[in-house]
Amino acid sequence: MPRLGVIGWPVAHSRSPAMFRAAFEACSLEGWSYQRLPLAPELFAETVRALGASGFLGANVTIPHKQAALAIADRSSDAARAIGAANTLTFAAGGEIEALNTDAPGLIAALGRSPREMSALVLGAGGSARAAVWALLDAGAASVSVWNRTPERALELARELGARAVPSPIEADLLVNCTSVGLQRSATDADALNQLDLTADQVGSYAYVVDLVYGGPTHPGPTHLGPTHSEPTHPASTRFTPLLAAARSRGAITVDGLEMLVAQGALSFEHWTGTPAPLAAMRAGAQLEESPA
Ligand code: NAP
Repeated sequence: MPRLGVIGWPVAHSRSPAMFRAAFEACSLEGWSYQRLPLAPELFAETVRALGASGFLGANVTIPHKQAALAIADRSSDAARAIGAANTLTFAAGGEIEALNTDAPGLIAALGRSPREMSALVLGAGGSARAAVWALLDAGAASVSVWNRTPERALELARELGARAVPSPIEADLLVNCTSVGLQRSATDADALNQLDLTADQVGSYAYVVDLVYGGPTHPGPTHLGPTHSEPTHPASTRFTPLLAAARSRGAITVDGLEMLVAQGALSFEHWTGTPAPLAAMRAGAQLEESPA
């Protein structure tokens, strides 16, 4: 009865449980379970060390624990170490913890086109921003700039990963939001953009806009991920994050956080189960508005 989960604080918003349950069902993986694991930062290390002995095979890790997830691991992939953050933990029978980062390849897969030769601006300097900067540089982006609310963190990230920190958002081909702005639905769209030091018109100057925060249902995408998939189409009822709403109204090509969720989750699923990920089922599961914890 392999148990999996997603560790975060907060984690109530996570669509991963519904997405993974849909995947288990599609692949007839009976007895597999996946749950939310709300864990405050001060409890992260001692609780995660106990998960293996409690019957957990692995866990995804989200806000704000990705750097702590790498730090706690006994073994980690080269990419996770280079990024400085992990989002996929596996608990070995002997008690060892292995850390991987599937956000980086997940972003490139969700983008659906190569960022080679593109200029990119990444907003944020947390765990997912680190993965985005590393992935874009690794995939051949011409330049990657980083803006963050706390500029010192952008400077540190940029220095470590070979990007450029900027004091305010600059023009680029591709904009990737790796902050948690948009997660709280209380702010108006203008408030949310203001927190990113952007106006709606500025957002419209980027040809491609990716928001890691998920807004509404994802698009009915391909049955495999890769750089060839076509432009996403959204049902009329889709609720977009403030950033994607501004980008779409001004003609930018957008990628919703749910597509990124599916892409990174598919890689974690394949790592844990050894089974090809059922992307269509995962996408449908992730689109469910609410799911039981
Ligand atoms: P994190 O490590 O906690 O980093 C959070 C980032 O958001 C920091 O750069 C922080 O800036 C910034 N931020 C928070 N509140 C802000 C505000 N009010 N105004 C401006 N900036 C603000 O989190 P993370 O793991 O990188 O995740 C970031 C977001 O991406 C989360 O919403 C997460 O759910 C989402 N995500 C989605 C996927 C997916 O599959 N769709 C994958 C990964 C992450 P400071 O440094 O100034 O605090």
